Amino acid sequence: MHDNTRKSVRFHAARALLPDGWAQDVRIDSVDGRISAVTVDAAREAGDQPLGTVVAGLGNLHSHAFQRAMAGLTEVGGRSGDSFWSWRELMYRFLDRLDPDDFQAIAAQAYMEMLESGFTRVGEFHYLHHAPDGSRYADPAEMAGRVAAAAAETGLGLTLLPVFYAHSDFGGAAPTPGQRRFLHDIDGFAALLGSCRKALAATPDAVLGLAPHSLRACTPEELAALTAMAPGPIHIHIAEQTREVDACLAWSGQRPVEWLYANVPVDQRWCLVHATHVSPDEVRLMADSGAVVGLCPITEANLGDGLFPMRAFVEAGGRFGVGSDSNVLIDAAEELRLLEYGQRLSMRGRNVLSPGALSTGRWLYQQAGEGAAQVLGERSGLAVGAPADLLELDLDHPSLHGREGDALLDSWLFAARNGALRSVWRNGRELVRDGRHVNRAAIAARYRAALGRILA
Ligand SMILES: [Zn+2]
Repeated sequence: MHDNTRKSVRFHAARALLPDGWAQDVRIDSVDGRISAVTVDAAREAGDQPLGTVVAGLGNLHSHAFQRAMAGLTEVGGRSGDSFWSWRELMYRFLDRLDPDDFQAIAAQAYMEMLESGFTRVGEFHYLHHAPDGSRYADPAEMAGRVAAAAAETGLGLTLLPVFYAHSDFGGAAPTPGQRRFLHDIDGFAALLGSCRKALAATPDAVLGLAPHSLRACTPEELAALTAMAPGPIHIHIAEQTREVDACLAWSGQRPVEWLYANVPVDQRWCLVHATHVSPDEVRLMADSGAVVGLCPITEANLGDGLFPMRAFVEAGGRFGVGSDSNVLIDAAEELRLLEYGQRLSMRGRNVLSPGALSTGRWLYQQAGEGAAQVLGERSGLAVGAPADLLELDLDHPSLHGREGDALLDSWLFAARNGALRSVWRNGRELVRDGRHVNRAAIAARYRAALGRILA
């Protein structure tokens, strides 16, 4: 689906949410997928691609695409100790069966669903590098290349975050057999990064970063080496579970976020994924550094992680974005809805996050868009230089009838079921039409066939 010729597309939106607010009759010029001009109060001209009500696409800052295929298979309770850790054991067994073709088919299904829900770029936290028995593929980036292929075939923007994983726990503990597909030493990881660069060469707007999996999975020396070699954004899972906090305290005398800030120069390149269990001091450290906290409300609820102290973080000026993480349910609006509702339930109040000048939906959408863009290495918003990633709301949807301005975003995020998006454009190309991805049938058929093999 990639077209390398220089291509201009001119859109005319009846109304659009620009960085400084809603505007009428907005012409958006794009060249090679990037916005080259934005003109308000412009009459529609012949050749314009007409659109109704448009907002910018949203970045999904944290995904493990292959986990889409496990969604709903780990919801049986009753056993003592069913938890994040028992979920992880099932995930490891599932991995025993996944070959590169299956992996790509699952990733394509997940990425198609992301586009249909309004995500236009994903940060793929990619740790499945080796063959099921742990042996190396001839190309170290065999599996990373499948991520890139799934992004290319669906059209989703990709920020690839190859994951470094070497240990099973703090203090450099030996990895477990279930982790054999993830493992590298630093030299092997440097080679992987080089191969990933080649795998992304055909996708000009792909971004390459890296991800130390967690403080459990790398030693302080390895973390320093990774920080020094990072080609772009740096993402890490941190403080998702209280058990991790306790283990970090036992190992170092410090909490995970506290330890990270004491030992690593954390800056605006960093995405701290989850950061669920943090003290008030850690909240301040994160906010002051300009790093982005990657919140994954649906997955965090599904895994029973806990609630991030969002209000204090926002009041300290902290930046955040959302991610679909385990992909148990892929829905951009629902991530933001659940983020807000978790805080309302715990604080027993309404509209508890937005500082007040903007509606909650507008504020959540813009903040999450800017935060994700920062740590995905791409610009966001309908502005010159940003990608022409456009979501067209469907004003025929009952939840959007009669709405104007920010109430459109509030109604989409809080009051609409599926179907609130009419079309989705990425880099100026239409990928979702009438709510469905343009290649849905073929991608869904391959996903069905792959699941038939894996679950047989
Ligand atoms: Zn994750």
